Amino acid sequence: STQQETHGFQTEVAQLLKLVTHSLYSNKEIFLRELVSNAADAADKLRYKALSDADLYEGDGELRVRLSFDKDAGTLTIADNGIGMTRDEVIEHLGTIAKSGTAEFFANLSGDAAKDSQLIGQFGVGFYSAFIVADKVTVRSRAAGQGADAGVQWESAGEGDYTVANIDKAGRGTEIILHLRDDEKEFLDEWRLKQIVSKYSDHISIPVEMWQEGEPEREQDGETIPATEGQWQAANKATALWTLSKSEISEEEYKEFYKHVAHDWEDPLLWSHNKVEGKQEYTSLLYIPAKAPFDMWNRDNKHGLKLYVQRVFIMDEAEQFLPQYLRFVKGLVDSNDLPLNVSREILQDSKVTQSLRTALTKRVLGMLDKMGRNNEEKYQQFWSQFGNVLKEGPAEDFANKEAIAKLLRFASTHNDSNVENVSLAAYIERMKEGQDKIYYIVADSYAAAKNSPHLELLKKKGIEVLLLSERIDEWLMNHLTEFDGKSLVSVTRGDLGLDDLSDEEMAEQEKQAEEHKPLLERVQEVLGDKIKEVKVSQRLTDSPACIVTDEQDMSSQMIKLMQAAGQ
Ligand code: ADP
Ligand code: MG
Repeated sequence: STQQETHGFQTEVAQLLKLVTHSLYSNKEIFLRELVSNAADAADKLRYKALSDADLYEGDGELRVRLSFDKDAGTLTIADNGIGMTRDEVIEHLGTIAKSGTAEFFANLSGDAAKDSQLIGQFGVGFYSAFIVADKVTVRSRAAGQGADAGVQWESAGEGDYTVANIDKAGRGTEIILHLRDDEKEFLDEWRLKQIVSKYSDHISIPVEMWQEGEPEREQDGETIPATEGQWQAANKATALWTLSKSEISEEEYKEFYKHVAHDWEDPLLWSHNKVEGKQEYTSLLYIPAKAPFDMWNRDNKHGLKLYVQRVFIMDEAEQFLPQYLRFVKGLVDSNDLPLNVSREILQDSKVTQSLRTALTKRVLGMLDKMGRNNEEKYQQFWSQFGNVLKEGPAEDFANKEAIAKLLRFASTHNDSNVENVSLAAYIERMKEGQDKIYYIVADSYAAAKNSPHLELLKKKGIEVLLLSERIDEWLMNHLTEFDGKSLVSVTRGDLGLDDLSDEEMAEQEKQAEEHKPLLERVQEVLGDKIKEVKVSQRLTDSPACIVTDEQDMSSQMIKLMQAAGQ
């Protein structure tokens, strides 16, 4: 029997499909980019598996994807001879979304089509984009290495459910048949399809082929030109983008390639493409996305680069090549030094991996630094998306502490705004004569930081204070104690190093301490063990009193953090 079954989509998929059909109509043609991108991924996976089992090619090692259409039936077919899917894989990949945090993501959607389509772009729709143009999708697939009778057919109208059935499928790979909606018939046209392929898929590594009819025998200038046979012809350039030299690649091509490797729908913010020869030989193509992924703060968020060895795809999400605090970087590294049979375990303790990681980390920090110096607007966009991730850096990466610190941006009393755009270098440039420390405060909010009584004396002296109020800031500042030879000092600490009080003022202070002795003793008595000492201080100008922590003590903000963590 065909063992036909009907399955309901996972709730999130059903929601996604509704959104796809209602909000992604502004740029419909990208469905083809997504399906071609999947076919290229399937080819990459087969090539990798075939490294250890060449039989998987079944005598057909020319990997490609073919587009064909049937005007009468109103169908467009995208057929690849990649790795294919088993029945279980079809159910898993085309019926659920595996990314963790998906349910939360959907809970955040507003129901407003325009807003949600923005969000959904960031989420990535992939295969489901087929339903932008189709009211029914049929997928026929057969996994590499299985018999012809191991085929599976998946079919859905993109509403609540889909069917799966067993079929015979001689050819390996996946065939996607789009039953186009009545008003989407423009895609049943050779030129239109060619135009889309060259726009989005030129540098996908496999050819995207279309059938070219042959010419009948004809006469020209008294000569007989013989008939030619029809053949499949590539509509794209089909060279892996990163293997070309920079001068051969346009901006548009870099952007489209990003969407393929990163599975993102938006243009990247920045990229860096480098070929390195000599002691290490590799090519890297690293991208900074424009938007943070929805699951960036999820513990088991998948990240990392695509790894190729000598142009052969090895694995996705190789995390070993960049530290955690750069987990937002997308792209690929193609190494000539790693063995083709490299596994995640081998990667983990390989010297090659270590040196690649060092080099790629430097590369990313360098490209961010350059953007910070050359394009403040772009840098602010980056900072607003990824600044808080980068702040994990000083604790994680001791060797690059200074380079990371250069990239940090803060709100500051200098600007009187909560925009984080002050670098430590800019702060140092504005330091007062004789000032040798960088002052900052960490509080629960920007308003609390800005209005803290701890700032009063510094304000009076015209000294700038950095205003920190993110959850991670206390952690950051615990690991960042120095920059450019200047120590970073919290204004809530005991000694601010502002000892430029004149002798007269010192005398005045002692006099006041004497005068207020009864008050100080009284406060000490009332507060008892809760405090160490009550002192008269020159720190405040407007407020009557404030709490100060000792140099060696935990700051009040850190205490709150520890309490929140249940310690
Ligand atoms: P993504 O490509 O980001 O993983 P998609 O929605 O595009 O997400 O695809 C979902 C999954 O379905 C893929 O990860 C893959 O496992 C499977 N898939 C889709 N298209 C194909 C194909 N042509 N051949 C094999 N597997 C495929
Ligand atoms: Mg995809």
